[in-house]
Amino acid sequence: MKQPMIMTPGPTYINEEVRGAMAQPITNPDLDPGFFEFYKDTCEKLQRLLKTKNDVLILSGEGILGLEAACASLIEPGDRVLCIDNGIFGKGFGDFQKMYGAEVVYFSTDYRSEISISELEEFLQEDNAFKLATVVHCETPSGITNPIDKICPLLKQYGILTVVDSVSGIGGEKLEADKWKVDIALGGSQKCLSAPPGLSFLSVSEDAWAAMADRKTPIAGFYVNLYMWKNWYKKKWFPYTQPISDIYALNKAVELVLREGDFAKKHYKIADAVRRSLVEAGLELHAASGYSNTVTAVVMPQGISFGKLFEDMRSKHNILIAGAFDVLKDKVFRIGHMGENCKEEKVYITLKALDSVLADNGIKLKGELYKLFAQNFKF
Ligand SMILES: *Cc1c(COP(=O)(O)O)cnc(C)c1O
Repeated sequence: MKQPMIMTPGPTYINEEVRGAMAQPITNPDLDPGFFEFYKDTCEKLQRLLKTKNDVLILSGEGILGLEAACASLIEPGDRVLCIDNGIFGKGFGDFQKMYGAEVVYFSTDYRSEISISELEEFLQEDNAFKLATVVHCETPSGITNPIDKICPLLKQYGILTVVDSVSGIGGEKLEADKWKVDIALGGSQKCLSAPPGLSFLSVSEDAWAAMADRKTPIAGFYVNLYMWKNWYKKKWFPYTQPISDIYALNKAVELVLREGDFAKKHYKIADAVRRSLVEAGLELHAASGYSNTVTAVVMPQGISFGKLFEDMRSKHNILIAGAFDVLKDKVFRIGHMGENCKEEKVYITLKALDSVLADNGIKLKGELYKLFAQNFKF
């Protein structure tokens, strides 16, 4: 089987060095002292990536586990939680909060724009009795990045714990967990880090640890219990056998991202050129503000369904692009340009294929996407 080029917002292409790391012989992760050091080294690399001195934990489960674990570990039945919602993942966070007994209050705004700080400020002046708030850094289905740098410091002014889902932001968008006062910043392995799917990781602040220690009721779950991890290194103990091969891969993947240097700038340059090219060609971006630099969502042009676009891209060009789900199902198509796919040549090939598929389906553009991209991309 010839693997397709996966230009989706995760999972992303996995570099040979990362695949090589994954193929290394394993040891017994519960018994080998060397593995505890390796695990610690992986956490330290993630600390550098997240710009935090807080503890970082790696959980054996895809990104969603991080969201659920943060809710399960911090929320007690009856707690008031603010769910900041300007997209599908933002709103979905509320479902986990309810599962663990929260009284959820939604701050819901337009799904085509970033969160407005002035509107949030106005809202908080009226009501701010929340134990924690959740917010999504990059709303992957709609291609919108929220101003976490302003949202989290504002929430902390009111003593509200901040939980940020940056699954599709970390490694692509700027994130400074400590400076921005993020109590829990969480990510996944398969998006901008370009490691295999299967791991989630999160930073836990002193305030977040304290909130867990102060609980009156036990955390209702095992895999979702972050407090079990407190002092894992001192105790040389893991709650369960660690997925060692995945952690080999994650360690290498984070090393590559750190080696790359200014990953946010690289992502911005590609994303900016993609957006300009689409707009110049007459297509419409889904986002009206807060454009994501890791994924672009484009309004489906008249005259073609997402199903046909996807199938033609796949069968004629062996490229996978994404649609979206929930309220955006069939309304947008998405190009992921994150991590290993944030490369000029990959985007060029993808846009060239898109030109050809759209033309074959009778959709007329003002110019060719790949040529516009070549003009708009600045080294
Ligand atoms: C990918 C992603 C997750 C993890 O969800 P999956 O759909 O299971 O991959 C969580 N949050 C955001 C914002 C994501 O982009």
